[in-house]
Amino acid sequence: MNVHDSERMLGTLRKEGHVPVNDPGEADLIIFNTCSIRQKAEQKFYSALGRTKHLKKRNPSLKIAVAGCIAQQEGEGMMKRVPYVDFVIGPQNIDRVSDTVMQGFGIFTDENPDLALADDTAERDNAVRGWVNIMYGCNNFCSYCVVPYTRGREKSRPVANIINEISELSAKGYREVTLLGQNVNSYSGEVSFPDLLNRISAIGRIERIRFVTSHPKDLGEKLVSAIKNVGKVCEHIHLPMQSGSTKILNLMNRKYTIDSYMDKIRMLRHEIPGIAITSDIIVGFPGETEDDHQATLSAIKEIEFDGIFAFKYSPRPMTGAAGMQGHIGEDVKSKRLAQVFELQDVITLKKNKALEGREMEVLVEDADEGNKYSGRTRTNKIVNFSSERDISPGAIITIRIEKSFRHSLSGIIVE
Ligand code: SAH
Ligand code: SF4
Repeated sequence: MNVHDSERMLGTLRKEGHVPVNDPGEADLIIFNTCSIRQKAEQKFYSALGRTKHLKKRNPSLKIAVAGCIAQQEGEGMMKRVPYVDFVIGPQNIDRVSDTVMQGFGIFTDENPDLALADDTAERDNAVRGWVNIMYGCNNFCSYCVVPYTRGREKSRPVANIINEISELSAKGYREVTLLGQNVNSYSGEVSFPDLLNRISAIGRIERIRFVTSHPKDLGEKLVSAIKNVGKVCEHIHLPMQSGSTKILNLMNRKYTIDSYMDKIRMLRHEIPGIAITSDIIVGFPGETEDDHQATLSAIKEIEFDGIFAFKYSPRPMTGAAGMQGHIGEDVKSKRLAQVFELQDVITLKKNKALEGREMEVLVEDADEGNKYSGRTRTNKIVNFSSERDISPGAIITIRIEKSFRHSLSGIIVE
């Protein structure tokens, strides 16, 4: 989401005649697009910000802007705390980035009711697959999460805007889109999310459709059947479990139990054999006992995800969990996180090994120097291969997998 917000700001500024530079020392405007999902992201930002202070002495007309979720969270406080910051632009106001530059100074953190109607001006980095917003904000209020406070209430983009944008991408030669929303299942434009997938699949050269993220509480049969039956929708779902303990899931306000989560995994695997399932895990949530942690490890063992993102719980301002009893020490969190990774590493490698010898459809993305190429399978696994003849990014080819690693596969072209 944040990467795409940056692409949108770049596109808006380019339209106004600004050009990007490679060296911050040459810039007249520096924008930090920030994330506040965990404290570590915030710390990284503040140290990067500190490193730009001296640039203002060298170039007195340099303006420094802070965009994104830290901007929203801190608002005016940011300008007081860091006097060399000129603009504060919340994630609902990124479309106004050029107005802010024109005005020279200011705070732009209002709730923006028209956000979903804004044109997407993104200047994308990748020429083969593009991120496309279908909704903004979140209404779920998971008790650990700052997103509903920084990105505001859920707003769905009208179907026509989404279709227009994807049609333009198709005309430019894009082959894949990833639909973005904090909880795509609660998309509420003129059609349901599964119907939206159907509409998008009618668009010309787009061959692959992905989406992030789905909330387990809202994953139903209609979406499962869309993944199964709409040919262009890829066989991969990111379905954050967060914890294997129903007690912790309740405290997290996730609105599902570990049993109902498992039922959904079984339904997905039964209906769509070979589907890749990835997940997010939080360790060390307040009140998490050793038994709760063991429940998470058992669930990971039983489910065998294709991959996970796992994090130590980080208390966030304004959230319910920050004020809960039973905060867990850093050392325990670190130990639990290491156990989760250790277990998942074995599973990921085992799952990738099982693909050796298989032929898989790969969308070619990068042509590195020489004859080396890389792309992704429909299940979102990275595949490296070489080719004596030139292959253009965007080509879809068949690769026989020869070797598997933890984060990638390698193989040879099947003629
Ligand atoms: N809307 C998406 C995810 C948004 S944040 C969803 O609900 O799935 C991405 C991930 O960051 C979350 O799934 C969660 O695992 C993690 N996360 C969010 N807040 C966190 C916090 N305070 N501490 C640790 N991890 C957190
Ligand atoms: Fe955060 Fe929960 Fe919303 Fe995801 S669904 S953004 S974790 S509040």
